[in-house]
Amino acid sequence: QIQRALRSLSIPLERLHVMKGQMMKDMCKGLSRQTHTQAKVQMLPTYICSTPNGTEKGNFLVVELCQNQVRTLLVTLYGDGNMSPHMVYKIFDMPESIRQGEGEALFDFIAQCVSQFLAETFSSDTSKSEERLPLGFVFPFSCRQMQLDKAELLSWSKGFSCRGVVGNDVVQLLQSAINKQKVGVKGTGNNWLSPWKGRKSSQFIPGQLSHVDVVAVMNDTVGTMMTCSMEGRPCEVAIVAGETWAPCVPWWWVLGGPVLVLTPIALADKGSNCCFMAEAYLVETAEETSGRMCVNTEWGCFGDDGTLNDVFTPYDECVDKESYNPGEKRFEKMVGTLYLGEIVRHALIALTAEKVIFTGANVAVLKEKGVFTTQHVLEIVNNEEGITDVRRILEALGLQPSERDCGRVQQICQAVVGRSATLHATGLAAILSYMCQTRDLETLMVNVGVEGELYSGYPRFEEILTSVSRLLAPECMATLLPSRDGSGRGAAMVTAVALRLAAQRREVNAVLAPLQLSRADLDKVQALMREEMDRGLCKETNATASVRMLPTYVTHTPDGTEQGDFLALDLGGTNFRVLVVRVTAEGVSMASEIYVIPAAIMQGTGEALFDHIIDCIIDFQTKQKLVTDMLPLGFTFSFPCQQVGLDKALLLTWTKGFSASGCVGQDVVQLLRDAARRKQHLGMQVVALVNDTVGTMMACGYDDPKCEIGLIVGTGTNACYMEEMRNVGTVEGDQGRMCINMEWGAFGDNGCLDHLFTHFDKVVDETTINPGKQRFEKLISGMYLGEIVRQILMVMTEKQLLFQGKITPKLQTRNIFQTKFLSTIEQYGLPLRQIRAILNELELEASFEDSVLLREVCQTVSLRAAQLCAAGLAAVVEKMRENRGVDQLSVTVGVDGTLYKLHPCFSHNLQKTLKELAPNCNVTFMLSEDGSGKGAALVAAVASRAASATQ
Ligand code: ADP
Ligand code: MG
Repeated sequence: QIQRALRSLSIPLERLHVMKGQMMKDMCKGLSRQTHTQAKVQMLPTYICSTPNGTEKGNFLVVELCQNQVRTLLVTLYGDGNMSPHMVYKIFDMPESIRQGEGEALFDFIAQCVSQFLAETFSSDTSKSEERLPLGFVFPFSCRQMQLDKAELLSWSKGFSCRGVVGNDVVQLLQSAINKQKVGVKGTGNNWLSPWKGRKSSQFIPGQLSHVDVVAVMNDTVGTMMTCSMEGRPCEVAIVAGETWAPCVPWWWVLGGPVLVLTPIALADKGSNCCFMAEAYLVETAEETSGRMCVNTEWGCFGDDGTLNDVFTPYDECVDKESYNPGEKRFEKMVGTLYLGEIVRHALIALTAEKVIFTGANVAVLKEKGVFTTQHVLEIVNNEEGITDVRRILEALGLQPSERDCGRVQQICQAVVGRSATLHATGLAAILSYMCQTRDLETLMVNVGVEGELYSGYPRFEEILTSVSRLLAPECMATLLPSRDGSGRGAAMVTAVALRLAAQRREVNAVLAPLQLSRADLDKVQALMREEMDRGLCKETNATASVRMLPTYVTHTPDGTEQGDFLALDLGGTNFRVLVVRVTAEGVSMASEIYVIPAAIMQGTGEALFDHIIDCIIDFQTKQKLVTDMLPLGFTFSFPCQQVGLDKALLLTWTKGFSASGCVGQDVVQLLRDAARRKQHLGMQVVALVNDTVGTMMACGYDDPKCEIGLIVGTGTNACYMEEMRNVGTVEGDQGRMCINMEWGAFGDNGCLDHLFTHFDKVVDETTINPGKQRFEKLISGMYLGEIVRQILMVMTEKQLLFQGKITPKLQTRNIFQTKFLSTIEQYGLPLRQIRAILNELELEASFEDSVLLREVCQTVSLRAAQLCAAGLAAVVEKMRENRGVDQLSVTVGVDGTLYKLHPCFSHNLQKTLKELAPNCNVTFMLSEDGSGKGAALVAAVASRAASATQ
């Protein structure tokens, strides 16, 4: 029978594996916005997003509210890796009446404790009272935390029931009580109520509470994690196993010598809990999405949905039934130090009834709830050598054990405590595996802070915790660190970190502020764009407008009736391509081939270049068996041209490495036709020269007749749209519409956007091949965003905000930070490890905070780009709406460009901003596939359709 009892208390390894999985599932449930209300493991966000890095410095005040005490603590940190903080504390007893009185009285009492403590602590050194004194508030009740310094009380427990507190922010309540103290002290000199009535006012320094700011509120469990973090060794998990006892320098240290005492700090409820640093985006119940946040698991309620029923022994059931909250906190009732003695007691009662132990002896004492404490259990367990101590303990309780009884009681105690340690290890394994998975790691190395009476009072606890968690989570390597000074010091660390981060935050904000655009800024950009558009369209002002508004001679978008085979050429993009596009009633199909243009030809004569192009076309048509037909050809030519007809465009200048002679100033279409004649190639007829924005609009226009705008956000940025002919002053005729190639990348080249240019933008502009040109584009497109980010990183590093102030030669290299990095870094939920990998490639040693800040920089730069692009588009759609005299315009934008397509937030930010800036326009975005191929063919098709219509 004794074996059976022992067996029921030992949980097989396979079951622990299953339990670990259940715990992980419950953790996910607790973090998810949809399911967290039903989760048993509550996973409360703490808004603690950073662990100490050892540079924290200064005085920090902590107030801890406990069951019947208020504990005040002053911690001085020296920026020395937090190796040797100086701590002074004082504990105040709290009258029972306060716990059940008015909330205001409670917080007044706390504020008075603080005032008293400071008066005594600082009386010998008044100079310190000039400093601002940050305060961390340990408030161990169930709260809905909204910020580090904002937590609404959900419900009282532990014998508290003060009125008017539930639903209110306890930080505010404490701060106003403190502020009241300040006024009181100043006003009357001695406004002290009980319990200090009658003290001499000379003992207090008037007004010193005016320096106290409550900057953080926290539960008690997070403290452990924070105390274990040392320089270079962040601790990211903490387990509290039972009541914690912390050595602490008492407040009279200042007066007498150093005395080390053991003082119970925190955890009046002897609970078991765990907290860890989770990826912030997974904590859906908090707003924070960047970096990590400490989550208080509150794992004590694990199993309240029945998952642990099969491992619950009859003894556990009895304990549960007799508890004040039957059916709740099932996990805690198996592991918590409040219950271990009770489990043993019920096991002994059962075994006595079965006449396995204490046969014939009087065991009435076992009926008494709580007679067996965890201390008893631990003492019995720890006396492995002899049983004399066991006998002494049992006899002291009023039992008369035989030698065999002593041995068996000891076995039971070992089983109960061992099970608790094993279950702690199972929970830890769940957390470690979860961290490993969500950080996308193959192996996890992590420091785990541990404290509590089980840890300190049971030598095998550490061994079991390590070995069992290793078995259950073999991919994780946990190093256990004893927490040294309890939650008080931890609270000081939280406060110190908060302050360090706040100071850093102010500096970061100052650096990024010029890049953040207000609604007014965007309205202004929109208005300026509109002005420039009008100037570009008007014949008289066109020459001086920064937005050139080039006519394209494309007067119709596809109507879906186009049919036939068309050729397309794409010259000036990343590759030179020849395509055949087959447009049928069923849709569009394409075949294409990439051809190489050797550098010698790019830089040779124009004749040789266009001959080579014709050779490629002939080769392509031969391969595609299209030689016998004469196919219309659309020519996407991505170089600046002055277009004078659909099939007539004068090359203004070569770019992108081309310099073929005899072309500038010539009609490019004619050059191509001349080459065809020389090669006697009759299989094609050039009908249109197309800009890539136009191609994009046309390609989308085939599928959506409402597509009357084309937008490119790739290496550069540009847009086109259908304008009324009556508004196009640079082309004869007033009938119908024409597509206008805006060339909006040059918007601002006349200086009208100078007010938006930051230091970073100016530096980037100066290092380009065309300083002062394409100003709008330089704020938006893929060629520049990475460079802007790099400039910001350099400035932030100089300001010691990043990379510990170390600028590497790589970071100083131009274009090393590619725009595609922004896409990767801004991906929602990207593990920080991957950001660090990018930075490591740049030879930058990035901390996890560096990664978070880098992401913010990228987000700022890409958001501004998207917003500016939206302001430009808003001007376009609003003009189209006006042109057509409608209240509401429905229009589609065909879009191309890798930045738009691959960046995770650009398109969303663009669309959202556009909606705000042009609320009367209903704008749909459509991704173009191969605008320069399909689009060019469709321009040719539409032109052939229009031509046959007029014949
Ligand atoms: P182009 O504009 O020359 O026709 P693309 O539209 O493909 O070519 O754009 C290329 C540009 O897109 C590159 O110069 C680069 O700056 C940017 N880019 C490339 N990959 C990404 C990415 N993953 N996310 C954002 N931008 C990218
Ligand atoms: Mg392109």
